[in-house]
Amino acid sequence: MNSNIGTTWQIGQTTVTRIEELLGPSLQPEELLATWDPAVLKEHGHWMAPNFYHPSTNQFVMSVHSWLIRTPHHTILVDTCCGNAKNRPASPHFHRLDMPYLDRLRCAGVEPEDIDYVLCTHLHVDHVGWNTRLLDGRWVPTFPNAKYVFSSKELQFWDPSLNPHLPEEAREVFTDSVLPVIAAGQGQAVDTTDQLSDSLLIEPAPGHTPGQILLRLLSGQDEGVFIGDVMHHPIQVYHPTWNSRFCMDPEQAVNSRMRVLDHCAERHCLMLPTHFGAPHAGRIRRGAASFSLEFGEAR
Ligand SMILES: [Zn+2]
Repeated sequence: MNSNIGTTWQIGQTTVTRIEELLGPSLQPEELLATWDPAVLKEHGHWMAPNFYHPSTNQFVMSVHSWLIRTPHHTILVDTCCGNAKNRPASPHFHRLDMPYLDRLRCAGVEPEDIDYVLCTHLHVDHVGWNTRLLDGRWVPTFPNAKYVFSSKELQFWDPSLNPHLPEEAREVFTDSVLPVIAAGQGQAVDTTDQLSDSLLIEPAPGHTPGQILLRLLSGQDEGVFIGDVMHHPIQVYHPTWNSRFCMDPEQAVNSRMRVLDHCAERHCLMLPTHFGAPHAGRIRRGAASFSLEFGEAR
């Protein structure tokens, strides 16, 4: 399996590097996609194996990674994976990890102090973990000079003090990975339509979670779109009505996916999801019946 740790793409004057936390065989297709139909393997199995699907074990290959964006002006980290030492008994794959994530960031030439913005597309367990690290028994912000950008809708939904009926794990995620950042004065709540600069635009992508946002990076004639969990697996490009079982509002999730695919096809954007196996990012083409995905061009 090709891991492509630290692979870099060029979008106009901006470089984008994947910072890996986890990559490997994970959920079975029907565990991820309620409407999974194994008949699609006839048409798509040839490109899905081995980087996106393991036929011998019937498992999807999934990644958990961050996107490191370096513009001429800012260094930005999109989504922060699961983090080390987090107590996640309900998510065994993410429980008490000890991964060299910060070493991989340094290998890409960036120290935690260099990050100007952290943007979490949404507040699920695998998108906020490295927001904090354990220091002398306390969770402290991993990126001391960063503003952490959260959608205010997401903050309101996942805050246990506002929503007492959240499951225990969601409460713990918010408490150890979001609250310490806010307590340190580093949180920045944004609307679901907002911007970090003229070339970094925030747009709503609800459905997977109520306040999920995506980030559009415009540079020169090119555009990259960081879509969070609008899609979890490349087969969803070919079957955009297939939701993950983790999508909270199925109808909204399909609408957001269709909108992203239309947009990326229209502008031939590089689409950068959080969980696709190698090569992790690609461009969308509109076909006669649906969409297709083109990989390539990373260096
Ligand atoms: Zn995710």
